[in-house]
Amino acid sequence: EEVIRVEDLTKVYGRGEAAVHALRGVTLTIARGEFVAIMGPSGSGKSTFLSILGCLERPTSGKYYFAGRDTTSLDEEGLAELRNRQIGFVFQAFNLLPRFDLVRNVELPLIYAGLPRRERRQKAVAVLERVGLGHRLYNKPPNISGGEQQRVAIARALVTDPAVILADEPTGNLDRRTGFEIMRLFKELHEEGRTIVMVTHDPEIARYAQRILHFLDGKVEREERVE
Ligand code: ADP
Ligand code: ADP
Repeated sequence: EEVIRVEDLTKVYGRGEAAVHALRGVTLTIARGEFVAIMGPSGSGKSTFLSILGCLERPTSGKYYFAGRDTTSLDEEGLAELRNRQIGFVFQAFNLLPRFDLVRNVELPLIYAGLPRRERRQKAVAVLERVGLGHRLYNKPPNISGGEQQRVAIARALVTDPAVILADEPTGNLDRRTGFEIMRLFKELHEEGRTIVMVTHDPEIARYAQRILHFLDGKVEREERVE
């Protein structure tokens, strides 16, 4: 079953002389439960592609189907709903709220979803336990390590039980050992059936995925199966 399908996707920033062709026709599908890595040189369109998959940006042309639904026909509200309910984001810079404890950071997406407080707490605590932070629930982000902060961000991405996790350089701010620990967590989530799409510059990190898409000049130049 495919969860993502894009057809001849293009993205042009600006117009006329100043136009930048960030994506020049990307066609691919991602099956439910797949773990896909995206690699490629700086400026090859990786972030733009991830932003479109995350419904943060719209393509200039082409089609994007999410779970069979044509996203290009959705209005802003429809896109926001898809983004909030079906997609979990993990960023290089963690993007946690420093004054809120870990439980409050993780329950935030559920506030937008309108869940009652008790249910929110229960779910936030459960996912924090899942990522190995059951003993840190009421700490604040500045008082935990970078690897722990990224685990909190992963817990926040998981708490709405999204169909897809999108990760942009999730190990980019971590030392190598901590980066591999985070990848072991991604691998477990994949083995539990999650769909993960991750951008990385690091070939060793990419090898945790099943499939690597190599971007070049706004296109998928080649695809690699990881043994
Ligand atoms: P990557 O993530 O592979 O480094 P990006 O998707 O960030 O590539 O960028 C692809 C191209 O699009 C680059 O030339 C970049 O400068 C350009 N670009 C990306 N975002 C914008 C934007 N918001 N406005 C104008 N140009 C952009
Ligand atoms: P990455 O490190 O993932 O490649 P970039 O540094 O390319 O990310 O881009 C970071 C952010 O800046 C993205 O949101 C991207 O859309 C935006 N951006 C990139 N290039 C440009 C540009 N030339 N003009 C405006 N915004 C840009």
